[in-house]
This record gives sequence, structure tokens and C-alpha cells, in this order.
Amino acid sequence: MNSTNSKKTALQSTQVVIDGNLQPAQIVIEDGKFTQINAYKTAQDFPVEDVGDLVIMPGLVDTHVHINEPGRTEWEGFNTGTQSAAAGGITCVVDMPLNCTPVTTNVDALQQKMAALDNKLWIDCGFWGGVIPESLDDLDELIKAGVLGVKSFTIHSGIDDFPKVEAEHLSQAIEILAKYNVPYLIHAELDKQEQEPPQIGDKYQSFLLSRPKSWENDAIDMMIDLAEKAKDKGVLGKIHIVHLSSAEALPAIRSAQQRGLNLTAESCPHYLTLFAENIPDGKTLFKCCPPIRELDNREQLWQGLADGTISFVVSDHSPCTPTLKHIDTGDIENAWGGISSLQFGLSIIWTEAKKRGFDLTEVVNWMATQPANFAGLGNRKGKIACGYDADLVLFDSEKNYCIESKLIKYRHKITPYEGRIVTGMVKRTYVRGEVVYKDNKLLGKPIGKPILASR
Ligand SMILES: [Zn+2]
Repeated sequence: MNSTNSKKTALQSTQVVIDGNLQPAQIVIEDGKFTQINAYKTAQDFPVEDVGDLVIMPGLVDTHVHINEPGRTEWEGFNTGTQSAAAGGITCVVDMPLNCTPVTTNVDALQQKMAALDNKLWIDCGFWGGVIPESLDDLDELIKAGVLGVKSFTIHSGIDDFPKVEAEHLSQAIEILAKYNVPYLIHAELDKQEQEPPQIGDKYQSFLLSRPKSWENDAIDMMIDLAEKAKDKGVLGKIHIVHLSSAEALPAIRSAQQRGLNLTAESCPHYLTLFAENIPDGKTLFKCCPPIRELDNREQLWQGLADGTISFVVSDHSPCTPTLKHIDTGDIENAWGGISSLQFGLSIIWTEAKKRGFDLTEVVNWMATQPANFAGLGNRKGKIACGYDADLVLFDSEKNYCIESKLIKYRHKITPYEGRIVTGMVKRTYVRGEVVYKDNKLLGKPIGKPILASR
């Protein structure tokens, strides 16, 4: 009887991203999954839509998004956040454990988050948990409840109820997490109080000086040291550096990887496409922590991505209200640190990657396949392959457009990229075979599902 419900359809294009190649193909979708990959123009007795030269690629997976609900829905929220993701070709996000209230450091907080997302998800959504000094005893249960991994800060997070951890907490968490083989995400900045904090006011260069590369380098060195010590005890922790900005840390990360430590790193569109010399004073939209650094640093980050030291690219979408961003006053010192860009990551990165001679399959690897693998979703998301969720993007890889506030689907219509001309436009987004976004409009209803790991 089920077969009467199963709707078989197919899409075909001269350019489909399959197994790291861009090739003509026909893909068959049934019950929300890819069931066949055929030669282009294979005859069928069910509907086949030919999208010509539009690229068909897997939906992106963005494992670093601050949705801020429950508790700070005036900053973002599941409804607006996931609409914006869909418009950006993202079919799965993983939500961060902080900026929401309560912070997601125990099972009760995770349940409150689950209760807050009903009928608001336009795409699928997984969850990171958090570890703070007083939550170590809750960690086993939190992982068993289905978070995909957990995050800690080695510096003040900006949120008082998500305090930083010290080396002793990190070591304990590494041991617990290793039992479940889930990643430990680290916001890696360490302030050893070696410099007087400079006056910042509205000066970007002063802000940059206030969060030097050494803070990131020192925190990363500490994590490598802790991972080595754990390994000496037979504990192989999966340590992941979120939003790497300091290219000076790349040699240490590379060397740790070569020594067999399970250490990975991500970077973000803002570190890879913007640079400090170009950021005017008083423009608080560019403030994030760690900061956007110099042009030369940016070029080294691209090399780190090219040689695989940096595994993938995620948004770190971290919005707040325009008031808290101090847009009107230009007060960089007191503005919330976080970049709003969720919807535009693909276009921004493709524009820059293309100029550097990368092809679209590499961008798909950085923004879909690798992050899906990292989050433990690599057996169902991030690829066009039989048995995988039919999460798709139809992408016009040649189309230029200007990023304008009227396009923005997330809650506050602000972004440092406003006015930027980019190449590559998302035309349509499919979640498990259903079109959720088409030509600048959300379609249907929120069919996204929460993803909890079963342990
Ligand atoms: Zn973040």
C-alpha cells in the first residue's frame, strides 16, 4: 500500500556534482531519497525535469550557526534562520549551544530547545551541546540525548551563562567525549594577559590589536598539548578548532595532523573573503571574534584550505539586534561580535574560489561533504549518492547579483556584504525531495526535522 504514496521523480542536468566530478546525469528521487543515478536523458515512465545547464549539487551542511532560540529570539530564531539557510542552498544546519537561554549544557536545556522548534524548521537541524565548568557531570547524559558533539570556549564567550573552561576541564571533557567518538569543538582564543587592552572605540585596527593572533595560536597549542597527553593515556579525542582566523596556527595544526592526532579546523567566509586593511572604522557589522585579519593572513588561510589543513567552511552566522550591534553609533568596542551572512556563504565563497582557480566540486566538498562527515551525518547528507537524503540545490554558477538587504530572509536585514557583487545564485533548494525554496520565495510549509543522534 505504501507504494501508492511513493512519488518517483527525476531531475537531470548537464552539470551534476557526483563523487567530486561535475558531469551530465539524471538523478531519481523516491520517498525523499536518491534511488538511482543514471546517464543524462535516460528514458523513464515517470516525470523527469531537465534543468539544462543549471548545476545540481548536494544541499550544503552548515555546522556552525547560532539560532539563539529559545531565549533570544529577538536576535534570530528557528523560523527565520532556517528560511535564510534554505535560500542560501543550505539543507542542514547544526545549531550552537549558546546565545539561546538556557544554554544547551544539559538534557533539560536540550529538551527546551526541542520544544521551541515545532513547525519552524524549513530545513533539517542538528544540535551541538556545550561544556562549561559546572556542566561536566551532565556531559554523558547530554551526549546520550543526541547532541552531535559539544563546544567549549577557552575565553569569555560574550554570554555570562556560558563561561570559559580551563585546561583541567578540557582534559576531563576529552576523556568523556572519546567514549562516544564525538567531536569537541573549541573556540580557541587564550588571553595570557600579556598586553594591556588597547582603547578601541570605533577603530577597527585597535579592535584587531586587542585580539591578536597569539591568542588563537596559544589556545591551539594548548589543545594540541592536551590531545597529546590524552593520546599518551590511550584516549584519542576528536578536537576541532572552530572559525580559524590566525593563519600562523596552520603549521602547528598541520604537524599535529601528521603526527596522527585527530585535530581538525574550519574557517568561515568572512575570514576567507574580507580583510582588515579594507574595513573602515565605525563599521560594527565587521566585528567578530576572532577578528577578520590582514590580507596576507587571508591568503595563507586559502592555502590551508587548499592543502586540507582546514577541512571545511561554515558560516558562524551569529546575529543580534541592530541596537546591540551599535550600528548607529559605530562603537566597535561595545558592539556584539558576530557576522550575519548565513544566506550568502555559497555565493561569497564561490566568487572568491573561482577567481583562485578552484572548481565548484571543491566548494561542494568544503561546504557540504566535509561538514556532513564532521557532524556524523556523512552516511545520509552532503552527497548525491544512492540512499542519501535527496537534499539538493539548483545553482546558476554564472549568474551575478548584488547582495541587498531586501534579499535577506534572516531576522535582521543587515550584513557586512551589502552592496557586494557576487557570482552564483541559488535558484531552488530541495529538502528530502521537496522544493522548499524557489526563485527568492519559500514554498510550502516547514518540513525540516530535528536531528538527534541515537546512542
Ligand atoms: Zn560561533
